[in-house]
Amino acid sequence: MADFRVWCMVVLLCVGCSSFADEHAVKVQANMPNLSLVPHMTLLEDPSAELTLKEIVSGKAPEFRRWAQPAANFGFSSSAYWVALTFENTQGSAADLFIRQDYPLIDYLDFWFKDANGVWRNQATGDRRQFSSRPVGVRDFVFPLQVPPHERQTVYFRFKSDGPINIGLSVAAPGPALSRAAGEQLLFGAYYGGFLVLVIYNLILFLAVKDRVYVYYMVYVVSYGLYMSVHNGLAFQYIWPGSPWLANQSLLMLLGISLLFGLQFSREVNGTVRLAPKTDRVAVVLQAVSAALLLVTPFLSYQLLVLAYSLQTVFVCSVIVVLGFLCCLRGSVPARYFMAAWLFFMVSVLIYMFKQFGFLPHNFFTQNSFQMGSLLEMVLLSLALAARVNEMQKLGYSDALTGLANRRHFDERLPKEIEQVQQTGAPLSLVVLDIDHFKRINDEHGHAVGDEVIATIGRLLRKNVRRPSFASRYGGEEFAVLLPNTDLQQAQILAERLRVLVETESPMQLPITASLGVACCDGDQLMARGALFEAADSALYLAKTEGRNQVQVYAVPEASRRAVEES
Ligand code: GH3
Ligand code: MG
Ligand code: MG
Repeated sequence: MADFRVWCMVVLLCVGCSSFADEHAVKVQANMPNLSLVPHMTLLEDPSAELTLKEIVSGKAPEFRRWAQPAANFGFSSSAYWVALTFENTQGSAADLFIRQDYPLIDYLDFWFKDANGVWRNQATGDRRQFSSRPVGVRDFVFPLQVPPHERQTVYFRFKSDGPINIGLSVAAPGPALSRAAGEQLLFGAYYGGFLVLVIYNLILFLAVKDRVYVYYMVYVVSYGLYMSVHNGLAFQYIWPGSPWLANQSLLMLLGISLLFGLQFSREVNGTVRLAPKTDRVAVVLQAVSAALLLVTPFLSYQLLVLAYSLQTVFVCSVIVVLGFLCCLRGSVPARYFMAAWLFFMVSVLIYMFKQFGFLPHNFFTQNSFQMGSLLEMVLLSLALAARVNEMQKLGYSDALTGLANRRHFDERLPKEIEQVQQTGAPLSLVVLDIDHFKRINDEHGHAVGDEVIATIGRLLRKNVRRPSFASRYGGEEFAVLLPNTDLQQAQILAERLRVLVETESPMQLPITASLGVACCDGDQLMARGALFEAADSALYLAKTEGRNQVQVYAVPEASRRAVEES
């Protein structure tokens, strides 16, 4: 009786086991399309990381549990993770399969399958082992497997890593696997192509502009691009396949370099020393910390470093955002592009982090989110650079005291306006304004008050001279106003208006007046280089000698007028 009971139990157990296997076996066939294996796998966490395959297959190990979830990300763990998968080929022809693990930064990845003679075979790979240990030489892990017709095969994986353990197993026949990999490779090509274009473009700009902020940008972009290529396994495949040490160390070192230069770039492009000096000092401290981290990276344990780098990344990103925000508030145009760049980047990093710690599923979008975010970031940062150059140029063309265009700007503008006269025949007038007895104001009230008077006249001109007219501070207390499409008479009226405004709106009740000279070039007269300015200046001289506080118009000498009329 007892024997019968034991026998029954054995039968029941066997039935139970086989139905368990039946239910969870992955049905495969020739030309199998791509299928995620994560929901089909059974899993065993081995905290001691000492279990062997022998113990596993002989049943001495604890039982595997069904996973049945779409994602399997375990973050940082000192355990080894075992995965068992059963494939069942119900068809009459053999099924050739590629099993793929798509997260390439697993330190030790072991794969066991039974060969045709029923002997367990082990393929030991992972990024702590030479790249040549991979059964298929691609950026992530691919293991070929053949399941004979009407047979069932169980395989085992063992994952062990200092970094996060992301299990992203899938299966496909070689054809579909290849076409999927080709599509991904195209996207990678576009991504790194984008980086390359940004680097070459900014290198050319650097050679032209010779501004070192371009160097910081390029080091940042290159280190970041390399960091990403390590992240998705391409650097190990193409750059240092013989060096597992670099494959693992490079990730953190490149992160350190990009933190250091990212900060330096941020400080320079926004001009933070000037616009946000206190936060800038914090940034300098963080740069020192980044440099120190970089130096100790080859000597400390990976887990400790990952923690330190994660914290440092959070600090650096926060300070960068604060810097950008402050500079934005204080009116910097590059800072606007800069902030947009970082916003995109931060969101993409958050998505990736949530995936890394298991809050979001591991898929192509979450795994690559911060690549997409980072390319967009780099493009926007390059725009911030361009905006900065623009701003610098503007500074070189404007007068600091009045905010008007400076003499250099005027000198470049005048020939363009004269060319316009030659093309259209529309008249161009020039008004030159000089403050009367300005030396006295300086002498009696001091230089600061003198400056205030100049600034007031500048404001007055900015307010009353509208585009396309163009007001500039030509010299110390001398201003020049270019008036396209304006004949001598209209120019004289405007000059008179300006004279009255100076007299009535002078600051601090000072008796300020100005003298003005007006000249016009109309397609016949004063077309020669410099002639227009000389003419207006001579009219101004006349205004001074005639008693100041008045407008004088340049009269074309009779002789030259007659010469023009006769020709
Ligand atoms: P006038 O033109 O009526 O003949 O007499 P003026 O005293 O204005 O003549 P002048 O052109 O000889 O003197 C201009 C003075 O303006 C000389 C210089 O010290 C002063 N000046 C030039 N640039 C500045 C400036 O940026 N700020 C101040 N406060 N003074 C300036
Ligand atoms: Mg003067
Ligand atoms: Mg003067």
